[in-house]
Amino acid sequence: MKGRECLNCGFIEVSGGDICRKCDAVLLEQTDGSWAKIDIAHDQETVQQAAEKLEAAVKKHMAGYTRYLRVVIGRGKIQTAIWPHLSRLLKAGKIKSFEEEPQNPGALVVTLRD
Ligand SMILES: [Zn+2]
Repeated sequence: MKGRECLNCGFIEVSGGDICRKCDAVLLEQTDGSWAKIDIAHDQETVQQAAEKLEAAVKKHMAGYTRYLRVVIGRGKIQTAIWPHLSRLLKAGKIKSFEEEPQNPGALVVTLRD
């Protein structure tokens, strides 16, 4: 596993641990405030594939510093079917919150870190 730089002190933590050994910051909660976007509905995905794409994206961005993930869910079956998956991620503590994008029910905003 690649090292993760502590945004607080600059130490590169290579142990894969969640806490910076130098300043005790919680590494997985550190964010640069950035946004990322993923589309899980416009490549003829099944609900299962959409859920897998979503989980993979959450995992990938949790390994980085992304704060918000904008998830395009379209207006088909995935739009409603993805909510239980998000609820599960929320209960598992893998995301902080999620909500429909204002004025756009075809997209969600997932907050990965506060
Ligand atoms: Zn640190």
